[in-house]
Amino acid sequence: MTVSANIEQYINSSKINGKLCKWEKNNINVFITNITANIDNKTYYYLEIERAMNMWNEFFTQNNMNIRFNKINTPINADIVVHWTKVGRVFEGMCKYISVINGTLKKISIDIGLPNNFSPKQVTPASIFSAIMHEFGHSLGLGHGIDVDDIMYVPHKKNISKPSENDLYVLKQIYN
Ligand SMILES: [Zn+2]
Repeated sequence: MTVSANIEQYINSSKINGKLCKWEKNNINVFITNITANIDNKTYYYLEIERAMNMWNEFFTQNNMNIRFNKINTPINADIVVHWTKVGRVFEGMCKYISVINGTLKKISIDIGLPNNFSPKQVTPASIFSAIMHEFGHSLGLGHGIDVDDIMYVPHKKNISKPSENDLYVLKQIYN
C-alpha cells in the first residue's frame, strides 16, 4: 500500500483553526467513565476501549512513534475522558477538543455510542470497535481520511480496525 495522491486533503482536514495540532507529551492519560445506562455486558465495552488503546500503542511502537495511551483510574490528570452515550441517528462516536492552546492538544472528550433500541443505526461489535479506533484517531489530531481503508474515513462502512498508510503518513506530518 502507498499513500494516496489526495493526501493533502487529509492533511487539511486535520487542521484545527488552520494548523496541525498535537500532544506535547508522550504519555496521554485516558480516563474511562462508568457506563450508567442499564445495558448488559458493560465489561465488554470497557475492554473494547482498552483493546483500541493497545492497538494504537502497538501501532506507535511499530512505527517508532514515542507516544502512548495510558489508562488511569481517576479523572485527575486525565488528558482524555471517555464518556458513553446512546448511539444516535448520525454518530457512533464523537471527539471534542476541549482545550487546544497554540497548536497543542491539552484536553479531549470522547463520546462512544452504546446500542440503542430506539435508533435505526445498527451497532455491531465490529462497528463499535471501529468507532472507538476512529475517535482515538481524532484525539491524536487526525481529521477525516480520504480512502475507505483509512481508520479516519467516514462513514466507516467497512469497519476498519487498523490505521492505514494514509493515517500513518498524516500522523507523521503532525508529530515530526
Ligand atoms: Zn470522525
